[in-house]
Amino acid sequence: MQLFDELKTLSKKHIKADKKAGEKVPSGLWIACPKCHQTMYHKDLGVYKTCKNCGYGFRIAARERLSWLVDSFVEFDSEIQTNDPLEFPGYQDKLKAAQKKTSLNDSVLTGIATINTTEFALGIMDPQFIMGSMGTVTGEKITRLFEKARENQLPVVLFTASGGARMQEGIYSLMQMAKISQAVKAHSDAGLVYITVLTDPTTGGVTASFAMQGDIILAEPRSLVGFAGRRVIEQTIHQKVPENLQDAENVLENGFIDGIIERKDQKEKIEWLVKAHQGGSTIG
Ligand SMILES: [Zn+2]
Repeated sequence: MQLFDELKTLSKKHIKADKKAGEKVPSGLWIACPKCHQTMYHKDLGVYKTCKNCGYGFRIAARERLSWLVDSFVEFDSEIQTNDPLEFPGYQDKLKAAQKKTSLNDSVLTGIATINTTEFALGIMDPQFIMGSMGTVTGEKITRLFEKARENQLPVVLFTASGGARMQEGIYSLMQMAKISQAVKAHSDAGLVYITVLTDPTTGGVTASFAMQGDIILAEPRSLVGFAGRRVIEQTIHQKVPENLQDAENVLENGFIDGIIERKDQKEKIEWLVKAHQGGSTIG
């Protein structure tokens, strides 16, 4: 009877609703992969929330990623709040809703993490916080992460997910690109490694700055990695662009990133990479 009840719920309405799955993992029973369009049972996505057909990693909250990525985590700067510098209409309400949804003060979670006994500074952007957009608090938290990592001689691992700069903070948001870039450079000058993992989607001012400044740049399978959206590109150059233009695999083939990393391998491989570069040395 239970199976019958579940099958009854597989209506066209459900599948159609879940086609918006790129925004987040919906709570319905059935879900369509936004990349390969295969329909699958929600529970089949497993703990890593990945498509069993094409390997695409669904957009997940920063705290959910944290739960399977590391063994310990001490969070920083969870209390900083934006002061809404432009007094943008409706922004305060949007922030409150995003904070409630993600349990974050802004679009990035930062702190010191360990995998086994390997310690590193970790940042995870949350695509569910106003599309992971970069506001002044995002910029401040990431800058402080790099500064703290430099003080403590630690590598930085940063998972990016962003629609780009946050329009509600205008120029203040764009200024974060330069601010973070300076902190990345100071961290690099101290001989410390910086690893980025680009997740779906990594675009705009985030791609144009710290996402692409990693010493090692990895990406999750089939993530969207780019600067401008494909419609903007097509309208600008008056040409159709290939369907896979901004797929991580195509970006890899064109030499912008170093590798694709599946979620199930991230814990082990990140630990290995961090260990390999501790103290600026290379593995023997
Ligand atoms: Zn798929």
